[in-house]
Amino acid sequence: MTREEPRCKSPPKIDPDSLAALPRSPGVYIFRGEGALPLYIGKSVDIRARVMSHLRARHEARMIAQTLRVDFIGTAGEIGALLQEARMIKEQRPLFNIRLRRSRTLCSILLRRTLTGVVPEFVDGTTHALGSTPDLYGLFASRHAARMKLRELAQEHALCLALLGLEGTAGRGCFGLQIRRCRGACVGRESRAEHDERLSAALIEHQVHCWPYRGAVDIVEEAEGWVQRHRVHNWGYVGTWCSKRGGALPGAGTASFDPDVYKILVKPIMLGSARLDVAGGVGACCRTAAPGGGYSSRFPDEIACR
Ligand SMILES: [Zn+2]
Repeated sequence: MTREEPRCKSPPKIDPDSLAALPRSPGVYIFRGEGALPLYIGKSVDIRARVMSHLRARHEARMIAQTLRVDFIGTAGEIGALLQEARMIKEQRPLFNIRLRRSRTLCSILLRRTLTGVVPEFVDGTTHALGSTPDLYGLFASRHAARMKLRELAQEHALCLALLGLEGTAGRGCFGLQIRRCRGACVGRESRAEHDERLSAALIEHQVHCWPYRGAVDIVEEAEGWVQRHRVHNWGYVGTWCSKRGGALPGAGTASFDPDVYKILVKPIMLGSARLDVAGGVGACCRTAAPGGGYSSRFPDEIACR
């Protein structure tokens, strides 16, 4: 691998100084064209390397041809970059960020325990608070998608589609029994408890974890004496406090369940791999400014946190 020389390799329209300034550290980068809205927003633990790989990618030639400069926002760690990227894409909807349009109401599978056994129910965020309702599995754009996923898992794990409410029941068991796709819980060949245990096992990796704290927590990231604290609550991103920025800034982030934030944080938080500061957050109002600094819902401008 040869060392990249952005000044030489940069396509003619891109400001070479903007490329030369890109650091080999984590953060968000922004491809800008003529319009006010960005062309593309991405994140990396090595901004410079990632941007250079965009410039080399042939399938991205159309975007590169429209790019006039590439800006960046440095972060102290990867989580900060992920949170910032997700928020910026949502707010600014860049032209070249191909992302499935998220429906406003997410659906999930609720496993309801009844006297006869566990029954899956398709629910959505309007009736069941995501991130604080137990026994939810999977986040889906529609009930149909949730149903399809359950059907797929049922077939993979030889569960009974009739007991799951996905097919009608007949006296002699479900259709799956005839084609040996069901182990026979519908006719008593397998105990209901055993069937339900396999159902729970099939869904476990899709579990939507409840927010495990009473209030907000700060995820702390540090790089060369630079500290950033990302406040999150109910799987929602409230804002980032940065030690390089003085004075209190108004916080405006909401603390409601955000599926993007959930996906970013579920492992670091549930596995305990992120450095957390819970003390300041438990029961506290998440918009309270921290001593010696402040939380903001966004970085005020692109040089604020370099
Ligand atoms: Zn069956």
